Amino acid sequence: MSDKVAMEKIVSLCKRRGFVFPSSEIYGGLASCWDYGPMGVELKRNIKDAWWKAMVQERNDVIGIDTSIMMHPGVWKASGHIDNFTDPLVECKSCHLRWRADEIASDKPRTCTKCGGELTEPRMFNLMFKTFMGPVEEEASTIYLRPETAQGMFVNFENATTTSRKRLPLGIAQIGKSFRNEITPGNFIFRTREFEHMELEYFVKPGTDEAWFDYWVKERFNWYLKLGIAKENLRLRQHGKDELAHYAKDCYDIECLFPMGWSELEGIANRSDYDLTQHAKHSGKDLRYYDAESGERYVPYVIEPSAGVDRSLLAFLIDAYHEEMVEEETRVVLRLHPSLAPMKVAVLPLSRNEKLTPLAKEVYRQLCPNFMTCYDDSQSIGRRYRRQDEIGTPFCVTIDFQSLEDNQVTIRERDSLAQIRVPIKELEQTLQAKLKGERFDATALWATRQKSQ
Ligand SMILES: [Zn+2]
Repeated sequence: MSDKVAMEKIVSLCKRRGFVFPSSEIYGGLASCWDYGPMGVELKRNIKDAWWKAMVQERNDVIGIDTSIMMHPGVWKASGHIDNFTDPLVECKSCHLRWRADEIASDKPRTCTKCGGELTEPRMFNLMFKTFMGPVEEEASTIYLRPETAQGMFVNFENATTTSRKRLPLGIAQIGKSFRNEITPGNFIFRTREFEHMELEYFVKPGTDEAWFDYWVKERFNWYLKLGIAKENLRLRQHGKDELAHYAKDCYDIECLFPMGWSELEGIANRSDYDLTQHAKHSGKDLRYYDAESGERYVPYVIEPSAGVDRSLLAFLIDAYHEEMVEEETRVVLRLHPSLAPMKVAVLPLSRNEKLTPLAKEVYRQLCPNFMTCYDDSQSIGRRYRRQDEIGTPFCVTIDFQSLEDNQVTIRERDSLAQIRVPIKELEQTLQAKLKGERFDATALWATRQKSQ
């Protein structure tokens, strides 16, 4: 991504190869809503799995949770979202186009960029989606779609700590949909009104919060590096005092170099004891933590790494996108980390020759319980390789006429374009090892096995 790829190229690839489609497309689409196609859903799932593995599975100090999108309205009063989760909005008095007031240059006359009309004074606009629960549409039954998953963790703090029998520091993690009625969504799936959150609320003893904050900033930054995003395309930016959210003591953004410039990929905030204090006050429940070691009771501080699945997906796609010349043709290749690639293996018989089909199908059946595998026998082998390159499939397995005689197949590597020949018997094991990034020579291994038998 050192040469920034144009967003149009990404949008076009996403449409062409089944990653992302405009929502309700046959009706002309719905602003800022997108659907994930067969490749997109796999990539998205792999990102969420990678996050869950790093944040929950591999940690003894984090537990998972899955809370409902609709919550008691008191939650949003306590959290400050009803009063503070707003953007200043200005509207054109003649054509009624709307902007966020901070997007309009303050040094120029404030007129509509479309029709030149006069603009209203800024008014505060709440970003929460409102709906009604039950059959009566009245004030008393107003509820909100959650604008973040975090509150689900705060209101379950007591349930989670008592049932898990774990001590602080303890994190609660959740992945789920959030909704924000953004005034100006845009940049493809970067800012949408419906999106998926991956959030951790990490509860710590007051006084240890700054050290844990530093720890999580580094940890999250490294997560993106480990999954392959180039270091020069990531940076950290500390929020100035004037831009800190009403609850935050400190905040860093992990920024990524997107086609439209450096933009926020993930935020890590020190939320202090704001949330639990507020919920204790509004619910009347004592949410202090009893520290058995010191015998103290205190309201924990919270460190929150908060990432968007859709935004991460865009970052991984942009970073993986490469165009290069191979045999005097432009090859588009997604160099996705193998753990993120939608398809791990493609099984490709050299042609549709009926002699090759049974063995190729047999190889497919052998692999598909273990890897996301696709089978493709249409068009020339060259075009099928290109198709797999465009969706980032790390390995293509080719079955040719020689395979019928020696029971060996060819593995073609996406990045190096190297081809190696392996016995079908060793194929699964070889692919497993390659996907884990281990280097071993399958042919040599096979030879040793043969000898020892
Ligand atoms: Zn106007």
